[in-house]
Amino acid sequence: MIIRKSAQELDKMRRAGRIVAGAIDAVLARVQPGKTTEDLDRVAAAYINEQGATPSFLGYRGFTKTICASINDEIVHGIPSSRRVLVEGDLVSLDFGAIWEGFHADSAVTVFAGGQAPDADAERLVQATQRALADAIEQIRPGGRLSDVGHAVERVAVAEGLGIVREYGGHGIGRALHEDPFIPNFGPAGRGPDLRPGLVIAVEPMLNLGGEETRTLADGWTVVTDDGSRSAHFEHTIAVTDEGHEVLTARD
Ligand code: MG
Ligand code: MG
Repeated sequence: MIIRKSAQELDKMRRAGRIVAGAIDAVLARVQPGKTTEDLDRVAAAYINEQGATPSFLGYRGFTKTICASINDEIVHGIPSSRRVLVEGDLVSLDFGAIWEGFHADSAVTVFAGGQAPDADAERLVQATQRALADAIEQIRPGGRLSDVGHAVERVAVAEGLGIVREYGGHGIGRALHEDPFIPNFGPAGRGPDLRPGLVIAVEPMLNLGGEETRTLADGWTVVTDDGSRSAHFEHTIAVTDEGHEVLTARD
């Protein structure tokens, strides 16, 4: 069941979104060789707590950390660890969620440890995944249909020859981190629920340099590409508005 948000609820989600955006900014400066993913988690936790918010992921189905940190062939749900030391050129996907007055916001970015892409493929992967998210967001407006969003992601992936992660996707968001509808990152346009004001969704393309098969590591969380190819992930929380859309997790 899709739960539309009132103007008051949207205000809370807007605040949650700003906190998530701020946490990302606080962490990105620290994505440097020699840092551990646990270091990044600690920075995010401190920022979210300072804002008086609550991390969305901590305790979610038993998850023990504030953020997800997924390196190179890890797609999503990597568990921050003091043993995971970043190396120059690592592809680092970071996923953040925060709750403000009972409402979640959810956003992810992929960057390179040290700031420089290690090779042209990595650069192309990250740029294409970011563009896939931007193109998908452009589809979000009253009168559109939900499957327009995933179709926009698929178009970019196909044009770039990238693998689309199919088992995971975007989702409605509100009082729960994951609400209906599920939003696959592929499929034909013009299907599914109408996009109407009050709908709030998290859109999150996950694209691979290689194949589409995934598997989950023995830790029960970390999802990796089966062929070991690198993967990128971008996500925003977006509200459908009367005029079009509002990206609640936008950063400057
Ligand atoms: Mg997320
Ligand atoms: Mg999400």
